[in-house]
Amino acid sequence: MSIFGKKKSSPPDDDHSASSLVPSDQSLGRNPNRNEHLFWYTEEGYIIAQDNTCQHEYVQTTPCPSCGGKLRVIAHLNRAGQGLSELVTVCQNCRYTVNFIFDISNEVYQQWWADQLGALYIRQYDGPPREPVNPD
Ligand SMILES: [Zn+2]
Repeated sequence: MSIFGKKKSSPPDDDHSASSLVPSDQSLGRNPNRNEHLFWYTEEGYIIAQDNTCQHEYVQTTPCPSCGGKLRVIAHLNRAGQGLSELVTVCQNCRYTVNFIFDISNEVYQQWWADQLGALYIRQYDGPPREPVNPD
């Protein structure tokens, strides 16, 4: 029985170690089980996310509300205890900042997240999943 002797590759030289359970967003793929509720809103006005990649996709397809420029993610706030994920973005043109708050309490996200983490998965939000509101 051997233990993987693989050394950790040198860490990137940023030190925002605030969150323990949210790996870097790019390292996670997309959820193959996304459904039609993706990007619907909840009653509370949160955007329904079903994986981490989609949150960045949403930002990329949303123009700056001030000038129509391109938004760039500058921070990811871990609000998993509230069943939320918040991205802070800034317009690359006019520096306007926009926060996007995504709902991750839904079963599609939580099941995908559990699959990503395996034995490490701990459900951080134990309230009921928020309900999507039909956009029609
Ligand atoms: Zn702008």
